[in-house]
Amino acid sequence: MTKKIEGIAASTGIGIGSLFSMKMETEFILRESIPDKQIPKELKRFDRAVKKSIKELEAIRQRVEKNRGKASAIILDTLILLLKDKELIDTIKEIIKEEKVRSEWAIHLVRLKYERIFEEFDNEYFRDRINDINDALNRLLESLKRKDVKEKVFPENKPVVIIADDIPPSEIASLITKENLKGVILTKGGLNSHSVILLKAFEIPAVINIKAELSEIYDGAEVIVDGIEGEVIFEPTLATKKEYLNKKEQYEKYLLELKSVKELPSETMDGYPFRIMANIELPEEVELALSFGAEGIGLFRTEFLYLFSDKEPTPEEQEKLYTTVLEKMNGKPVVIRTVDIGGEKKSAFFTIGKEDNPALGLRGIRYFIKNPQILTEQIRAILRAGKKHRVKILFPMITEVEEIREIKEIVNKIAKEENINRNDYDLGIMVEVPSAALIIDKLAREVDFVSIGTNDLIQYTLAVDRGNPSVNYLYKAVNPAILKLIKNVADEGRKAGIEVQICGEMASNPIFAMILLGLGINSISMSPIAIPLVKRTLRASCIRNLKKISKKALNLSSADEVKEFVIESFLKSCPKTLFENINLIK
Ligand code: PEP
Ligand code: MG
Repeated sequence: MTKKIEGIAASTGIGIGSLFSMKMETEFILRESIPDKQIPKELKRFDRAVKKSIKELEAIRQRVEKNRGKASAIILDTLILLLKDKELIDTIKEIIKEEKVRSEWAIHLVRLKYERIFEEFDNEYFRDRINDINDALNRLLESLKRKDVKEKVFPENKPVVIIADDIPPSEIASLITKENLKGVILTKGGLNSHSVILLKAFEIPAVINIKAELSEIYDGAEVIVDGIEGEVIFEPTLATKKEYLNKKEQYEKYLLELKSVKELPSETMDGYPFRIMANIELPEEVELALSFGAEGIGLFRTEFLYLFSDKEPTPEEQEKLYTTVLEKMNGKPVVIRTVDIGGEKKSAFFTIGKEDNPALGLRGIRYFIKNPQILTEQIRAILRAGKKHRVKILFPMITEVEEIREIKEIVNKIAKEENINRNDYDLGIMVEVPSAALIIDKLAREVDFVSIGTNDLIQYTLAVDRGNPSVNYLYKAVNPAILKLIKNVADEGRKAGIEVQICGEMASNPIFAMILLGLGINSISMSPIAIPLVKRTLRASCIRNLKKISKKALNLSSADEVKEFVIESFLKSCPKTLFENINLIK
């Protein structure tokens, strides 16, 4: 039966495929079919679960009776009786046999049956007894949880949509390169998590935070992921599928039309120039970035070297990769960021150990200051690749001045060994830890450029885990606290005479990009797919207005006030057509 579930649009586009579930603990019940010969085994598995549940309940019952008396234990008696009820147990077993399904699905069907029966009762007391049945069935489901589930094999020969609670970057890395992966649905996840960033980079439509509420889903069911509206449609009718195929075509046409803006100059209506660049995750994305009109690579994340491969890259391989990117960009600026491992980005190549608080732990440059070998090799490879084409090297997670001084010593030593002049390359730092934004006047003296990483700057300033849906509501890029930090970096960067860029996802939202321009940042980098709409939006605005609006926004009290105020002001001062498709790029 067709079922539409809402979530948050995380990666634009529309994908259609057959459902493949991975690592789910959320209360989705899967209809898993089993072959005839497996039925006796499944019945035994079910019997074991019943026995286990009864045993557990009896133990609890004894404890309760001992501590609180017989009367308190009555509810447990009811549950035990239910699990010993022949009719209930036989009905479930019949379904397993007749429908050839796993116990979980049979329990789900029985639950639906009883819910329908109990709904009919007039008497509220009887109606509420369904809760006891639900309790007993939930116990059974709990006892059925399989710890030994075998790794399922990703289907290779048909379009697939993955559903999971969340997928860490190390796992998503091996999935997104599969051509038949058409969409991803997550019950959890954060809009600015690295996994979502990777999905966007690979243009895989994704909807996150979908509500699980007892939905019936099963592997192999046809599903549509609408990453524009943030909806998922399970088992669409033919008419619905047609409607979405049409929407997909319209969206692709719209993107194509939007891309034509790349031929036009990057300047506002009143002639203020800006530069719009791409964030890439893999060297292969360069062509895509250029096709969307990127004027440079503002952030080349190099975690792929370790996340996408099971063997360590040699210095020669690295040099070759960087050279390829620099050659393809043909003189346009390229910022290569050294590996930002740690936090949620785990890799077997690094011995970080278990941390209680990985986001605040040995991440990015912190790891390499303690273990400089991998960083030294990477810097050497970048410098060698940069002999023919000027290169910019960016260091992540800088917290204090000493770190960049130490790093500069390492770079200078390698440059000397390689006979490379210090003036032939640029060194920069990510401003993504609040302390760096606050002491930027001091840090700016040490480097040639800075790049604001709003993904982490928001996470660390507002103390909201970028991947945690429970606190997503606080993750607001235009919180005045964030705007103030950005303004401080822009002002101090200008005073120090160095370039200030933004490479956080914030810039890919056209409204936020206007605010950033108004705050004095005119070099922005984002997911390639977001470039055309942001460019079109900025070209249609006037810097005089943007400056006025952003100045006022800085003094408002909350992110919601800022959003309301800037949207209203932009609507007044910019052409209406600008906002028609603004929700298309997330
Ligand atoms: C950022 O933090 O904004 C950033 C660009 O880096 P990453 O998303 O890779 O942490
Ligand atoms: Mg970051």
